Amino acid sequence: MRILLASVLLLAASGAAHAANCSIDLKGDDAMKFDKTTVTVSASCKAITINLEHPGKLPAATMGHNVVIALSSDMQGIVNDGAKAGLAANYVKAGDARVIAHTSIIGGGAKTSASFPGSKLKVGGDYDFFCSAPGHWAVMKGKLVVTK
Ligand code: ZN
Repeated sequence: MRILLASVLLLAASGAAHAANCSIDLKGDDAMKFDKTTVTVSASCKAITINLEHPGKLPAATMGHNVVIALSSDMQGIVNDGAKAGLAANYVKAGDARVIAHTSIIGGGAKTSASFPGSKLKVGGDYDFFCSAPGHWAVMKGKLVVTK
């Protein structure tokens, strides 16, 4: 009986571990859109991985996308400075402290990933994910909901 209880607890514990979402999986296409408008992650994740896929055909120079994670209030400043930094800098100013995490810019047919510690996010904070390519942020953005 005691052994049975222990294995039930073990199952419950592994179920709880699975409940924490530690990845941000997005697709950005030739229509300048992400496939999601909301992603939920857990601040308790040791590492949160951004997985970006570009299922389109256009090259990075004309329809390149990245994923930037930041506070909503910082988005405008980040994209303004990112536009000046240019494609070679992945449209992110070097050393921009407002950027919590970002991937590189990719074109059609490519994939990229980037990881950051969940401890960089605060539960219930007002975060966005967006593409910082010039003009894209207006439509390529969504809410990053942070849970415990
Ligand atoms: Zn984009």
